[in-house]
Amino acid sequence: MKVLRNMMLCAALLAATSLMAQENVYVQPTPQEVYTPAYRNDGANKKVKNVILMVGDGMGLTQMTSALHANGGDLTIARLRHIGLVRTHSHNRYITDSAAAGTAYATGTKTDNGKLGVDSQDKSLQNMTEILSAAGYATGIISTDKIVGATPAAFYAHQTHRSKNAEILSDLIRTQALFVAGSGVELFENPKVGGGKLDSLRANGFGVIHNFKELPDVKEDKIALIANKTDAEWVQKGRDADYLRYVTEFAIDFLDRKDDKGFFLMVEAGEIDHAAHAGNTEGVVRETLDFDKAVAEALRFADENGETLVIVLADHETGGMALGDGSVEEGKVQGRFTTGGHSALLVPVYAYGPHAGDFCGVIDNTEVFAKILSALKVKK
Ligand SMILES: [Zn+2]
Repeated sequence: MKVLRNMMLCAALLAATSLMAQENVYVQPTPQEVYTPAYRNDGANKKVKNVILMVGDGMGLTQMTSALHANGGDLTIARLRHIGLVRTHSHNRYITDSAAAGTAYATGTKTDNGKLGVDSQDKSLQNMTEILSAAGYATGIISTDKIVGATPAAFYAHQTHRSKNAEILSDLIRTQALFVAGSGVELFENPKVGGGKLDSLRANGFGVIHNFKELPDVKEDKIALIANKTDAEWVQKGRDADYLRYVTEFAIDFLDRKDDKGFFLMVEAGEIDHAAHAGNTEGVVRETLDFDKAVAEALRFADENGETLVIVLADHETGGMALGDGSVEEGKVQGRFTTGGHSALLVPVYAYGPHAGDFCGVIDNTEVFAKILSALKVKK
């Protein structure tokens, strides 16, 4: 009787496991194009004029591997030769959130989970956007997440908690960045959060648009793209497949034409994290592939320009994701998720261009900030 019960339990477990596994299998129909960089100043100890920091939110090694295998074994990111690993713990937690991780990248200081641009004692920290704008660089911030999302906000806001959307939007109005893009039209429609703040952005010289296809029509010297709700969705749910790639390409050109000392652009693929939180393999793969197209744009520019350092990294891993099965030939991957939250895994960092070698080895997330400033020869 006991044996029979055990057998039935096993069968039920097997059925549940295969159901879970099935839900997490994704097959990429056709591989997307990959860009091969020229590797001309890659790793050279030469002048860096521009820095493009590309953050795949939640993009650990498994997320990257899942996109690589689904894409038939090739990715633009996988062509980069200077690779390191980043420690991601925050000031007060073994497992970081995006606010503390974004603050580490933007300010070089570890803070508590939830805090944005302030240290663990709530003291305001100068961020990369502020330091480089003051030093004569044109700066920009792009995300597929809401503009108040923790990663983009770490580059312009100083708030004791990431949930303070009204205060974060007030910081956005004062940003020195010349180009900001993210979603969240509804935030500005909420009188208690963003009431009147689109007008304040305009009063501060920003051309404000909601459709990324209108970017070339903006006449103002500064651009705020507060994207429509459709552009806030995952690619899987309808975001324009050109959104992140095009906005990145446009912003690079826009900032480069400012003819300043150089430029700094932060680009975040925010939805890799959301897909991994949801245990959605298709979402992880498609958002990572979407990010890879934006990386290709950055590398294309870096090749033309010769003085641009491109850094591709993650703020943390999400989902404790593993790959249980798959086939590179078929573009098939089976994702398995061990948590609905983030994990403590080291995350990969890939660098391209002059000073790319600075990012090799195992580094702390706070070191990325110092390495960028040092490559640009800018003092904090
Ligand atoms: Zn997350």
